[in-house]
Amino acid sequence: MSKGGSEIIKILFVTTEIAPFSKVGGLGDVAGSLPKALKKAGVDVRVVTPAWPGVLDKAEALGLKLTKVSRHVYASYNWEIKQAEIFKSEVDGVQIYFLKADDYNGDMYPQQLNFWTASPFAVFCLQAIELSKSINWTPDIFHCHDWTSAFLPCALAWHRHYRQTGLKSIMTLHNVAYQGVLEPSPFIEASGLEPWSFNSSTMEFYSQVNLLKGGIVAASAITTVSPTYANEIQTYESTRELSGVIYQQRHKLRGILNGIDVDYWNPASDKLISKNFTLDDMRGKWQIRKELLNKAGFDPETQDPVVVCVSRLVDQKGFGLVIDAIERLPKLGAKFIILGSGHEWIENALLDASAKHPDCIKLFKGYDEPLSHLLYAGGDIFLMPSEFEPCGLSQMISMRYGTIPVAREVGGLKDTVIDVDNPDGGNGFTFLTYDTDGMLWALDRAIARYKDKDAWNKIIARAMTEDFTWDRSAELYKNLYQEMANA
Ligand code: ADP
Repeated sequence: MSKGGSEIIKILFVTTEIAPFSKVGGLGDVAGSLPKALKKAGVDVRVVTPAWPGVLDKAEALGLKLTKVSRHVYASYNWEIKQAEIFKSEVDGVQIYFLKADDYNGDMYPQQLNFWTASPFAVFCLQAIELSKSINWTPDIFHCHDWTSAFLPCALAWHRHYRQTGLKSIMTLHNVAYQGVLEPSPFIEASGLEPWSFNSSTMEFYSQVNLLKGGIVAASAITTVSPTYANEIQTYESTRELSGVIYQQRHKLRGILNGIDVDYWNPASDKLISKNFTLDDMRGKWQIRKELLNKAGFDPETQDPVVVCVSRLVDQKGFGLVIDAIERLPKLGAKFIILGSGHEWIENALLDASAKHPDCIKLFKGYDEPLSHLLYAGGDIFLMPSEFEPCGLSQMISMRYGTIPVAREVGGLKDTVIDVDNPDGGNGFTFLTYDTDGMLWALDRAIARYKDKDAWNKIIARAMTEDFTWDRSAELYKNLYQEMANA
């Protein structure tokens, strides 16, 4: 793109997960939906992602046409030439390049990071830089996401082949708690980074390689996924100690709120639910509610509100509070249905509670996309008491289906859930301090309000008409790209 911004700007999204092929959490949703909105806003955006096991099969099962690019992509790493086959497809007008190689045959996200488990992520970043040679298209900016592609800005700054190319990158922080930390040896030697580049003002952090720190320091710009989280990550407790680094780099930090794919998450057309519904005709929702109650083994005619939760079962999501409150939940006059998997102690505590209170608490253990739609659509209340929450998509999805969030005022939850007791009304029930009583207080208010049908319907109407599209945020990203290209 020329200076002045007259040509269409070219952006390569570099992401290790993307919905619907390899989604693990919110990053997958964002990578699957933001490019579509950017394309609509006039950006030439393309995506590169590893073909993890099963990804190409999934693409084919979804009926996508996959074309093999005639040239492979090559990158040098650990004194070897690492090559990958390139499979191209188009989703909603966005070109996606899947890189297939032995490097991407293992588990998507390793439990433990070391030289061997970190190498696929470094190789992926180097191949993303090299991709332009094989596809005859050169991006103006590489848009990287989280620690898994944070090596790319590091390579543009400190790699012996790339540090003088002048290529630009953006690092988007979806969750600063995951940083990609490993021993420096033999990673630094194998990676091709200049040996002098491993120091405390670059990617070294307490004698370890910290890929996210490197990406934050090296990228031309940093964004994060909500304005409130952009402020929070400059303070100690929300970043596992990286706050000082982020504070130093705050001149290039912006908080841009995530949206959701409102075509996919649409109660009026969702194919994964048995009945569709709209604000004007909610009969489908009440039927799905019965289906959900049946599936959970509860009385389908219950008048108690159905509190649902779709989540990774990890501390971040506030399960410390839920488990602490578990013996008090049956007395609240609600049914609780949770879908998720994660830490064993949380899974076990919820399974125990399900066994002890079979008419009130139910855990569906696992990751299940169709079942998540049943919960979003069939629930009355969505519980999200996160300890920290960079943006959070589940609260926006649930509102779209008329399921009212009970959420903590933190990160992106604070930017999207407004308490109904505000003078101007709101779309949910919030509490501020991370404690069990606070959560129960908000839940109690929601359960009491549910009994007032007129009041509840007004809250549903507000929630279902909130604008959670990507349109506004896509414009903000586009402006940032243009500023960077013109700088
Ligand atoms: P995070 O990225 O921190 O996990 P988000 O709220 O940003 O949280 O996004 C979570 C996404 O993952 C949502 O689309 C949610 O529906 C989905 N999800 C989480 N757990 C499950 C599960 N067990 N089954 C199906 N979908 C899930």
